[in-house]
Amino acid sequence: MSLRIVVCVKYVPDATGDRHFAEDLTTDRDAVDGLLSELDEYAVEQALQIAEAADDAEITVLTVGPEDAKDALRKALSMGADKGVHVEDDDLHGTDVVGTSLVLAKAVAHVGYDLVLCGMASTDGTMGVLPAILAERLGVPQVTLLSEVSVADGTVTGRRDGDAASEQLQAQLPAVVSVTDQSGEARYPSFKGIMAAKKKPVESLDLSDLGIDADEVGLGGAWTKVEDAAKRPERTAGTIVKDEGEGGKQLAEFLVSQKFI
Ligand SMILES: Cc1cc2nc3c(=O)[nH]c(=O)nc-3n(C[C@H](O)[C@H](O)[C@H](O)COP(=O)(O)OP(=O)(O)OC[C@H]3O[C@@H](n4cnc5c(N)ncnc54)[C@H](O)[C@@H]3O)c2cc1C
Repeated sequence: MSLRIVVCVKYVPDATGDRHFAEDLTTDRDAVDGLLSELDEYAVEQALQIAEAADDAEITVLTVGPEDAKDALRKALSMGADKGVHVEDDDLHGTDVVGTSLVLAKAVAHVGYDLVLCGMASTDGTMGVLPAILAERLGVPQVTLLSEVSVADGTVTGRRDGDAASEQLQAQLPAVVSVTDQSGEARYPSFKGIMAAKKKPVESLDLSDLGIDADEVGLGGAWTKVEDAAKRPERTAGTIVKDEGEGGKQLAEFLVSQKFI
């Protein structure tokens, strides 16, 4: 039977752009170009390698995001994924990680899966917690932050590198796995891949398709609330400490005044 892989990919604001909050203190996603989160390219790459090693596999890339999030799906499809699923709904505006994980869990279940692959964190929210919440919602094992991953005989195996040691981890499928930026360079889409991606199917779903009430997501359903946000102060020239015998003391006083020590 075909190995069903679902890769969760996020469409994020370009980190090199000038990013702002909108009036309701959510990220102003219209003001800046977006792209497939670079950390999710590693998840797509691992999915492709697992599929290449399997006899029969199908890769679905899944995103929850606005209209333009289709661009993230097209990039993943041009790398080699087979089909896309896009969850888009006006009521998603302001959804936090708890709501996003609910939508992804319902969408993953809708698609059908043996293995869900995620990045280690998104490059905008950078919480790194979504894969764990998703696994909990699906009621399957989570094997997170792997820098090496393989699948054989219904089991996913991988290596998680810590500061002091590396762990070898294993779980029965179905499971949720997240991979790090050490898992292997993501391939560039070929010209053939880019052309082929235009013809690959992308299914669009909204909240009602997934049986989710609007009040479970959006700003109203969020467990967190941004109370206030201020623009980062402009960079100043800084303080130059000239060492004329008292440099160390002045440096220490400066660090104390800034509450560093
Ligand atoms: C239109 C829209 C508006 C939003 N508004 C807000 C808001 O106002 N406040 C707020 O707190 N959050 C908001 N979110 C949710 C937020 O952007 C994150 O998607 C969510 O909080 C997950 O946190 P993270 O990105 O830090 O995930 P992490 O835990 O860092 O992500 C880990 C991995 O999870 C997967 N993943 C994460 N998000 C998605 C996704 N959307 N689609 C597919 N895969 C994903 C990726 O594989 C990623 O590498 C919004 C999301 C959308 C789509």
